[in-house]
Amino acid sequence: MNTQDLRNGFRGPVHRPGDEQYDAQRAAFNPNLDARPLVVAEATGPADVRAAVTWARAHDVPLAVHATGHGTHVAATGGLLLKTHRMSTVLVDPDRRIAKVGPGARWGDVIAAAAPFGLAPLSGTAPGVGVAGYTFGGGFSLLSRKFGFAADSLVRADLVTADGELVTASRGHNPDLFWGVRGGGGNFGVATSLEVKLFRVSEVYAGVTRFPVERAAETLAFFQQWAATEPDELTTAIILGQGPTFTVKTLHIGAPADAHRLLRPLWSVAGRPVEQDLRTVRYADIKLPSVAPRNFDMVDALPDNLVDLVGPDSPVTAIEVKHWGGAMSRPAPSAGPAGHRDVPFSIGINAPAEAVASVRKHSRGSFLNFLHDRDAVATAFTPANFRRLREVKRAWDPENVFRTNLNIEPARQHAELLAR
Ligand SMILES: Cc1cc2nc3c(=O)[nH]c(=O)nc-3n(C[C@H](O)[C@H](O)[C@H](O)COP(=O)(O)OP(=O)(O)OC[C@H]3O[C@@H](n4cnc5c(N)ncnc54)[C@H](O)[C@@H]3O)c2cc1C
Repeated sequence: MNTQDLRNGFRGPVHRPGDEQYDAQRAAFNPNLDARPLVVAEATGPADVRAAVTWARAHDVPLAVHATGHGTHVAATGGLLLKTHRMSTVLVDPDRRIAKVGPGARWGDVIAAAAPFGLAPLSGTAPGVGVAGYTFGGGFSLLSRKFGFAADSLVRADLVTADGELVTASRGHNPDLFWGVRGGGGNFGVATSLEVKLFRVSEVYAGVTRFPVERAAETLAFFQQWAATEPDELTTAIILGQGPTFTVKTLHIGAPADAHRLLRPLWSVAGRPVEQDLRTVRYADIKLPSVAPRNFDMVDALPDNLVDLVGPDSPVTAIEVKHWGGAMSRPAPSAGPAGHRDVPFSIGINAPAEAVASVRKHSRGSFLNFLHDRDAVATAFTPANFRRLREVKRAWDPENVFRTNLNIEPARQHAELLAR
């Protein structure tokens, strides 16, 4: 296919197979995803984004967006891969407590720009992750029990829609689109800028405590009950690995003495710590371990056999149990479709799907940002939210131009259903 007409209307670099930069620019975070796009285009501004969307639609070529490639699980082979990393401006307005960012911005840039004002965004565990994909996919932060999902912190997004229009999604503009992007992923348009809220957090008390693995089963059983008593300021997760210890990960927005008082009941069951590294740190300096989950399930209660799943002869190398709830479970009436807000725990497991069947049968669903399986997208939402997302998709992208992603198909028209 001739891509010269794309080059004519596009200011940023454009790469075809065989071009020097093609391989470097097509790579995603997952090295096994060997996508072979027809063309890779690096956008320099909203006009480039418009040109790319219009070109893809005119030629019926699927369009994929990369901010950082961290959340790319669907290969853009044969399509147009639009990269936004050149659009990574971050502007902090300390009075409004808002960061206005380009679609290629990473959380690390926002954290650094907000920190001098004593502010922090609802970023996740890795500073290299992009603001756009993370926020549109829900955004579970270590601060989310206190302040909600990152999607809840989105104030405004400007997007190029499937018909090439640049529109604003906010409370006052296109409220259905604004609802959809607060959890429904990159299904409705390509964002050219986002505004997210910042929160008054500069230092937190955070770290890990490791206990003998023999106490893990009892601790998990107690954790299920005890977690419900945690205040929103306290966030905890338990990591099971293959070694002689298990890890309790904690973050407390508040004084160390309060954290120790709150954690004491859990410690009394977990036993004497083998190692403890809890300290007051700047939000920008938090470094906590995480399990990269190949399987991710939200559950009401933890299955009894969790501890037995992981072991030296098992394909399960690590399990992370997170406690959700808090502000995430008390959304504003106008909140978007992110997550299963009433489900208190998640189980992230690094293992092939066959190895986790005993957990999957307890699953209430997944979370879009931690989902890798494009055939399981519906499980990331409540049935009512998923139905509504498909309606919003039909309104804004009826031909499913934005389908090289964790895709939500447009709802069928009534007439189409009658014709079947
Ligand atoms: C190491 C690591 C740590 C993580 N930690 C967390 C965590 O703590 N909490 C959490 O919630 N998630 C976490 N995630 C998941 C992460 O939020 C998702 O992978 C997210 O999709 C990454 O967004 P991105 O823009 O960086 O990725 P990309 O791969 O660039 O984009 C992923 C998808 O986002 C959409 N998208 C990107 N840019 C745009 C745009 N401009 N307009 C419209 N749609 C767009 C597209 O659908 C795209 O396919 C983590 C992932 C990794 C790899």
